[in-house]
Amino acid sequence: MHRVEYLHPSFYIHPGGTDRALRRYREFLHPPGKSPLYPQEAVCSCSGCSFDDVRHARDVLEEVLERLPERARAELGRLVKPLDAVFLRRTLPDPFAHRRQWRTRFWWYRRLADRLPWG
Ligand SMILES: [Zn+2]
Repeated sequence: MHRVEYLHPSFYIHPGGTDRALRRYREFLHPPGKSPLYPQEAVCSCSGCSFDDVRHARDVLEEVLERLPERARAELGRLVKPLDAVFLRRTLPDPFAHRRQWRTRFWWYRRLADRLPWG
């Protein structure tokens, strides 16, 4: 995992980023109960603040997963998969997702989110 972080630095991938993304993803899903959760856009789009948007954290995990060798990918996948299940259970589908042209490649952008008033 750390090797990938060093070998493929990018906006998404940097040393420690995978841990951070995992922690952010868990933290977002943490509130107990059954009430729906809404991802929220980050106010600032630099690589640090981007983590305010939990979907960015999931982007990072995806990028890392795509680049990891098979065994490591399976390991990380085992951590991410149950979180994905919770995310799907606790967020709502966005009925207008098909109308949006951008960022719909990943399913986690097709869930209802809080938008910034100017976003
Ligand atoms: Zn920032």
